[in-house]
Amino acid sequence: MSFHLSRALARESQLTPDEQAARDSVVPARMRGVPALPAAAARKTPGEQVAVYERLLRQAGWRVEIYSHPMRGRLEAFHSSGAAVMITLDRRRHIKDRNRSNVYVLAPPGSGQWRRTRVPSLEFFALHRRLPPGARSMSVGTKCRCGKERYPTLAAASAGLNEVAPKRGRGRHERRCYRCEADDRVWHLTSKLAGYVRPIPLADAYSPKKVP
Ligand SMILES: [Zn+2]
Repeated sequence: MSFHLSRALARESQLTPDEQAARDSVVPARMRGVPALPAAAARKTPGEQVAVYERLLRQAGWRVEIYSHPMRGRLEAFHSSGAAVMITLDRRRHIKDRNRSNVYVLAPPGSGQWRRTRVPSLEFFALHRRLPPGARSMSVGTKCRCGKERYPTLAAASAGLNEVAPKRGRGRHERRCYRCEADDRVWHLTSKLAGYVRPIPLADAYSPKKVP
């Protein structure tokens, strides 16, 4: 430790009130460079933010479910055709993405792959269950490393369960569907009767460890 630094640290407890005020005034100046959420968005919970799309989908005849967590919001919408929509928002992401909704669509009959698209395509998809001509969509990678069969929705997993269950006879067989802990857009089957119940996967996995 340099002589000057150790002397400064030694003096830290002896600052005059004026010196303390001068030191404290430096902190907000440094924080001015940190981008903040727009005030209107920061007042809303992640659940409230994704809920802005609820009316559009309901009016187009979709069933809508919204899950909210202090750091995450997720809207899921289901259409009788088998089409599905998922909109997620994650405040744990990098500051520039923290306020951005991610939009995923699953074209009918709902057993294919999720595609990521953009908010402007959502209204067309809600009305027509397909993306507008020329709209961009991207295939979606997965964080699921479970090594199990992946289903895109609970309905698809339930259909899968009905297919495999009778074939296994009376021994160990798949009994239940659950959402993958690592990926909202993945469902698995399990033979276990309990466990794996996480309404908002990832939110649990990422929340700070509870202090006993
Ligand atoms: Zn998985």
